[in-house]
Amino acid sequence: MSQSTPSAIVVGAGVVGLCAAWSLARRGAAVTVVERGSVPEPRAASCDHHRMIRLSYADPGYCARMSEAYAAWEALWADLPGGGTRYYHARGVLTLSRGEGDWGDRARAAMDVAGQPYERLAPGEIAARFAHLEPSNVTYGFLSKGGCLMANHILTDLAERLRGQGATILEQSPVAAIDAEAGEVSLADGRRLSADVVVLAGGVGAQALAPDLLPDLWARRTVILYADPPEDLAEAWATAPAWTDLGGDGDLWGLPPVEGLPLKLGCGAFGIPNPDPEDRTMRAEEMQRMLDAYRGHFRGIERFRIRWGQANHFTCAPEDRFVLRRRARLWAVSADSGHGFKFGALSGEDVAAAALGEVSEAEAARRMAARPA
Ligand SMILES: Cc1cc2nc3c(=O)[nH]c(=O)nc-3n(C[C@H](O)[C@H](O)[C@H](O)COP(=O)(O)OP(=O)(O)OC[C@H]3O[C@@H](n4cnc5c(N)ncnc54)[C@H](O)[C@@H]3O)c2cc1C
Repeated sequence: MSQSTPSAIVVGAGVVGLCAAWSLARRGAAVTVVERGSVPEPRAASCDHHRMIRLSYADPGYCARMSEAYAAWEALWADLPGGGTRYYHARGVLTLSRGEGDWGDRARAAMDVAGQPYERLAPGEIAARFAHLEPSNVTYGFLSKGGCLMANHILTDLAERLRGQGATILEQSPVAAIDAEAGEVSLADGRRLSADVVVLAGGVGAQALAPDLLPDLWARRTVILYADPPEDLAEAWATAPAWTDLGGDGDLWGLPPVEGLPLKLGCGAFGIPNPDPEDRTMRAEEMQRMLDAYRGHFRGIERFRIRWGQANHFTCAPEDRFVLRRRARLWAVSADSGHGFKFGALSGEDVAAAALGEVSEAEAARRMAARPA
């Protein structure tokens, strides 16, 4: 690696690639980002109005790591033109439990292990404070830090900031191959680039470029539904928190209305592994199924008005952990498994620190996988 100004190529301009590029540039590297589409690219897992950030995790490792994740975002936002409010709406996150050992209960236990603060709520308090909910059969809930990360604002402003710092961002430039030993990246149009380090953050496209390093990843299709609540509940929704799991086996999560957007309904159980790469439309029956999944949880769900649905793909790794693997000059990263946006700034820091030799590969990989030291 050249001592004075190391050079780096980042393949993929999703949240992980752009944050890694920012962290590499901050450390003095000359950075080129190569993206097959645009920034933000609609096929990227990172592309949407918003993504949830939450402390509430059933895994104590990722739960504990959220403190560092917030600190990394704050450092990044301080360098962007919009200030924190353009990038984050702190609405809090509500988690409910319907019985011992369900996801909500395990998430509360993980908060205890990780030493993260939360407010425990009895069923009566939940009913009194959240008029948009139908909290039947709920044994307890808890409210913790979190809210909406404005994903597309973050991606757009981050790319602009990188350009302003002298980084090159090549859009509409699909990468065809990477030579890890030479640090060479071949584009589909025949151009070749080389650098001291290459970071592969290609999301669902990464495995094809480094099958030996990332043999165990797979894609998952998921759907989300944007909808408006009935008018008589609009006031209750205006201050409602985000939610991650409403108790039992529902795997329901979503975001309240912010910035004039409709609310966003998700359900982890609706994911489909190894989808057709072109299957990116949410079908009418999937929209209805989403609303049905919320019956008994949200008041007036039968009167919600569908605005639009989205289908997108993300990349899974074993145990839903993040992976960072190296061969020669190539660093392949997958910090996704459907929960990676919130860690984007922190993942970028970890990747950059490892790629520039500040921390060992093993240490960076351990941190990203949220495994104990
Ligand atoms: C519907 C949905 C909801 C989600 N909700 C949340 C949430 O609420 N909170 C949360 O934290 N996470 C959430 N996630 C997960 C989160 O969005 C992802 O973990 C994160 O965005 C992954 O970022 P990435 O940069 O690794 O991948 P991506 O965003 O997919 O970026 C990869 C980039 O690489 C590019 N690329 C691929 N192949 C090539 C190639 N050959 N050449 C050049 N470029 C290439 C792609 O075009 C893309 O832009 C959600 C994901 C989805 C799909």
